[in-house]
Amino acid sequence: MTDPPASSEQSLTPEQPPAHGRSTATEQSESGRPESGRSTVPGRSEAAEAFVLRGVHVLDRTGRFGEPTDVAVGGGIIHAVGTRLGLDRDAVDVDAHDLWLMPGVVDCHAHVTQSTYDPFELATASLSTRVLQTAAALRASLAAGVTHLRDAGGADAGIRDAVSAGTVPGPRLAVSVVGLSRSGRHGDGAIIGPGLESAEDLLMPDYPGRPPHTVTEAGSLPASVRGILRAGADWIMIYASGGVMSARPGQPEPQFSPVELAAAVAEARRYGRPVMMHALGERSIEAAVAAGARSIEHGIGLTEPVAAAMAAAGVTLVPTLSPYQDLAALAATGVLPGWAADRAEATEAALAGTIAVARAAGVPIALGSDARHRTRHGANLAEISRLRHAGLTPPEALLAATATGARLFGLGEGAGRIAVGSAFDAILLDADPGDLSIFERPGAVSGVFLGGRAVLPHPRLPGKLVRPTMVMEEVPRIVPERPAVSPPG
Ligand SMILES: [Zn+2]
Repeated sequence: MTDPPASSEQSLTPEQPPAHGRSTATEQSESGRPESGRSTVPGRSEAAEAFVLRGVHVLDRTGRFGEPTDVAVGGGIIHAVGTRLGLDRDAVDVDAHDLWLMPGVVDCHAHVTQSTYDPFELATASLSTRVLQTAAALRASLAAGVTHLRDAGGADAGIRDAVSAGTVPGPRLAVSVVGLSRSGRHGDGAIIGPGLESAEDLLMPDYPGRPPHTVTEAGSLPASVRGILRAGADWIMIYASGGVMSARPGQPEPQFSPVELAAAVAEARRYGRPVMMHALGERSIEAAVAAGARSIEHGIGLTEPVAAAMAAAGVTLVPTLSPYQDLAALAATGVLPGWAADRAEATEAALAGTIAVARAAGVPIALGSDARHRTRHGANLAEISRLRHAGLTPPEALLAATATGARLFGLGEGAGRIAVGSAFDAILLDADPGDLSIFERPGAVSGVFLGGRAVLPHPRLPGKLVRPTMVMEEVPRIVPERPAVSPPG
């Protein structure tokens, strides 16, 4: 394996996730702010228009919406927040009374390269089909209000950079390229039935330049990490344990030893990249935290002592409730084998306990939809409601979706808030989200801004702020025909 370019080591402080990936097309300035005059969409090169939203309810740093406030934006940055801001002749006034404004959602765990659970479709769809489906997933996610998305395996640097260059619309991406798995274990392509496991190598078919995602030899995990870093990953993703549907009976087992995990984190750290670990069950979560994982994905089976260690180390939990609830709903239909249905139901029953343990210990909790189906890309914000039903208060769930996710993503302390100096990545709602059930409904978000530009223009925006080249008025769902071949045998 060749080492990654030296520049990646030099340009980042250890373990600082890059804010917007490493692409060069639409980068942030060294101050961490998006540079004005750069475009995230084709055909635009001028600076984002200046405007003032008047009388909007704004999500504050406590996760609550306040009294009507004015928000002034210019060059993609929030310049002022306050009541009755003075008139600015260079800015467009927007009547935003009876609208609700919050930061764009940071989805810290999704798989934009997968659009079905159907293993036959996954195994037979061409690479080009998969890539174009990925474009549809990205577009749907952005239109739904996801302004930043950390892909947990599947999306590579090319996809990230295409979004950054404006080739396709989508959230700003951080990619892990592939999820590293012990060969023969969870994530290694085993298919045990429709709707059950979406194996890692089915997240994307193999193609030239894709680094290996399975680890066969003892001690070779750091070499695998280097291969993924060389492919341009922003994060390293490791399956530290099995999954709910990958083994039976009993709990998901560790896939790597604590020593192997620590060596992998140390290698990633050498190149300034953080590590996220899929971990279920106390032993696996404990080993992942001890190894230095920045976030624990799923985390089912978290116990009080391990939660205390997570809180002390500042490790974020990304619980991804949606797929487990979907799986339990599938189990209720009777289509799963008995052992799988039992495990699905037991897992769903454990979700609230996991959240309660994390919350009580003060573990940061960030939103992850684990979206990997065409009906889930664009429904990412349902996870906000599900976090609330699992035990977070509405303000806590809203902060998990915004500020906490932004911090994990590496956007800095001020990001993920409607605050002076922050990039204007934000969404508008036509109703008070109240108990947050609004986020379960498609189309809940009525306006999306990315870097101060209206990528999903709210109807109240004057035409001056709406550029045809950047508008996603309609978000088509691409549902391909079933491939015209028969299943084997
Ligand atoms: Zn996942």
